[in-house]
Amino acid sequence: MEVLDPYFAKPAVPAAFEAAAEGRTIVDVGRRGKYLLFEFDNGNSMVIHLRMTGSITLVAPDGTGNPGDPRIYGIGEDEKHLKARFSLDDGGEIRFTDPRRFGRGFVAGPEALDTYFASRLGVEPLSPEFTAESLAEMSAGRTGPLKSFLLNQKGVAGIGNIYADEALFRAGLHPLSPGGSMKPEHHEALREGIVAALERGLDLGGASIDDYRDARGDAGAMQNEFLVHRREGDPCGECGVTIVRIVVGGRSTYFCPACQKRLRRRPRHSKTRKG
Ligand SMILES: [Zn+2]
Repeated sequence: MEVLDPYFAKPAVPAAFEAAAEGRTIVDVGRRGKYLLFEFDNGNSMVIHLRMTGSITLVAPDGTGNPGDPRIYGIGEDEKHLKARFSLDDGGEIRFTDPRRFGRGFVAGPEALDTYFASRLGVEPLSPEFTAESLAEMSAGRTGPLKSFLLNQKGVAGIGNIYADEALFRAGLHPLSPGGSMKPEHHEALREGIVAALERGLDLGGASIDDYRDARGDAGAMQNEFLVHRREGDPCGECGVTIVRIVVGGRSTYFCPACQKRLRRRPRHSKTRKG
């Protein structure tokens, strides 16, 4: 393994990262939230977060495997964005490229990893633990907007800006509704919206708005099927009303003002009221 940009390994030094990966066999590949996990044969895992523009590409031993954008990933092309590379025993390579240098990697043992994730990540949205009830619990009493609630990784893990917008549209919920304003039917609608938006994204290989490519260099197609995200000025596919863009918590947010209901803040102790 070779770390070409010390930023990638921070706060560790590149040599320590390389030593932790050198000679190991990758026995499993997984994910937690937005973190990618490469489990080694000694029980440790290499963890990589792509952040804004990071990509992992698998290059075959014969140098092929980059049918995507050759400006970024092509062999023999400009490789200034190549930050780390892993030489595989069959002669292939795993490459990490990142034009904006926000991506990070580290190696950790199972306990350290559990501790790391416990303080940063909530429930996995595609797991059985993600229910309307769990959504009710984590959103109870929250006064901040639903959009921000969805982007907070400590509640539901792994949702980014695109899927938050798409999930809220599917659920018929206005992004500025307070998190704690949802009633049971809204919890279920939001759960369904989140799962449907994420599964659609998986089916379509993700969204390639800028430079996201999958491990074989192929672009995703989710960007062609956005319901509201990045569709400011377009008619809503459900009702024809113009989709609008606002900024919530510093993030561009797109929604249909007719389909997405703005909930009022619920009074405290409403559960104890009779009738
Ligand atoms: Zn609409």
